[in-house]
Amino acid sequence: MNQAIPGLHHVTAIAGDPQRNLAFYAGTLGMRFVKRTVNFDDPGTYHFYYGDGAASPGSIMTFFPWPGAPRGRQGAGLTTATAFSIPGASLGWWATRLKDAGVSVDGPLPRFDDQLLSFDDPDGLRLELVATAASDPREPWGGGSVPAEHGIRGFHGVTLTENSVDRTAALLTETLGFRASGQSGNRSRFHAADAGPGTTVDLLHDPAAPRGIVAVGTVHHVAWRAPGDADQERWRKTISGLGTHITPIVDRCYFRSTYFREPGGVLFEIATDGPGFAIDESPERLGETLRLPPWLESRRAELEETLPAIEIPT
Ligand code: ZN
Repeated sequence: MNQAIPGLHHVTAIAGDPQRNLAFYAGTLGMRFVKRTVNFDDPGTYHFYYGDGAASPGSIMTFFPWPGAPRGRQGAGLTTATAFSIPGASLGWWATRLKDAGVSVDGPLPRFDDQLLSFDDPDGLRLELVATAASDPREPWGGGSVPAEHGIRGFHGVTLTENSVDRTAALLTETLGFRASGQSGNRSRFHAADAGPGTTVDLLHDPAAPRGIVAVGTVHHVAWRAPGDADQERWRKTISGLGTHITPIVDRCYFRSTYFREPGGVLFEIATDGPGFAIDESPERLGETLRLPPWLESRRAELEETLPAIEIPT
């Protein structure tokens, strides 16, 4: 194999109310609000990005807030849990913080060598905070209301629910460069080649699960890292060579994207590390003002009028 995915780039989900989403991720979870922009395919709605202080690939959780839209349904063919990495000693601190915020928390629960907390965001999106047995050297964002010593380090990984797992497992290991690294009940664990933080994907085998429905409170897609444009182009050729439809490369301003469905139905994206989130505002001011791609700048006044006002929690 001459190419291997290094790990997660971002996870994109659907939210309901934008302010409630902002209050939870930038407030309760203490992530940095790193980009306030619009859905390029539906510019009358927001696209929010949260991450670490440097908005690093592997830390970026993004949302399309669709106020008033119906809830989706967790099920097969979806990413049914998104896990963030926290320091090993911070589990109790987080359990208290979430309960104080009125969040119903399951855990601590053991999973492989780790302990985790499991809970839903305000729209029913399933999240996990994983206190990893291995150390996670990534720098947290300490500029919010969560002290850096407890801060989220970035993603731990994702869980995909599948009616059958064999073809997805084969794609991960034979094409994308993942390694099978554990089995517990109906959960099969895989790690990206580097095996560092933010590289875990679990397949949950549930033959009877109904198909998931993407709407509020569900993950829309999972993006994997391609360090550069040449890597992404090679991936397009490789995936296409499997007979799988993969989209042309799309410019998302902060990275370039190409999308395909894995055999179980989960939408995957391969996203470039660059050019990054400081391309249209300074690294110190990320997320403070509405950023628009060049082709929507002429519509700024109209869009600012349409989009609901929001306030970043302090
Ligand atoms: Zn994406």
